Amino acid sequence: MSEPLSSALRYKPYPSTVEPLSIVTVSPTAAERLAGSIRIPTISYDDSTSPKAFSALHAYLEAAFPRVHSQLRREKVGLHSLLYFWQGSDSALKPILLMAHLDVVPVEPDTETKWQEKPFGGRIADGFIWGRGAIDNKLSVLGTLEAVEMLLREGFRPARGVYLAYGHDEEVGGRRGAREIAALLKRRGVELEMVLDEGGVIGDGLLRGISTPSALVGSPRTALPALS
Ligand SMILES: [Zn+2]
Repeated sequence: MSEPLSSALRYKPYPSTVEPLSIVTVSPTAAERLAGSIRIPTISYDDSTSPKAFSALHAYLEAAFPRVHSQLRREKVGLHSLLYFWQGSDSALKPILLMAHLDVVPVEPDTETKWQEKPFGGRIADGFIWGRGAIDNKLSVLGTLEAVEMLLREGFRPARGVYLAYGHDEEVGGRRGAREIAALLKRRGVELEMVLDEGGVIGDGLLRGISTPSALVGSPRTALPALS
């Protein structure tokens, strides 16, 4: 039996039952914060990054999420990647890690005029947030930061520690970002209860054979390279 198939058969969902969550009211300004991050062109190229753009994005996040930046520990790893840690109240519990990435792929030369909206315009129109990175993957960066900022505002403190890990070169392999973060956590002896990566969007008809809206939950066990 092939290794992926045998591990799929042995896999037990954890936890086995989950109570549905109540709908959370998201701040009406959250969409504008995401749109603003799209206007910062943090493009990954095979041979280089754009240091100015990443510094600008770091500063933008600091201004947009003041509670996160005053109450969580933040480290820069591999120059432009970010690792946050939210201390839990119970140190006996292993922390979790939520991953996303700050970089986007370049716009193909000579295709600029074919975009319905400018790739780095970050415009909100017709009920959509438009631009490179809106889905892949600034949505996950801004989404997790919005959630933590909101919970801090409510005075919430998690029992389990929470890491937020945002790589800056995922689109070109993650060698300087995610790999450095993993090495750093390993050196420190950090053991994680769970890792959640970017996964996919909730789509209708995206997965063959499934007729209801569905999404891929991304973890190291389930992530498909084609979707990263
Ligand atoms: Zn991605």
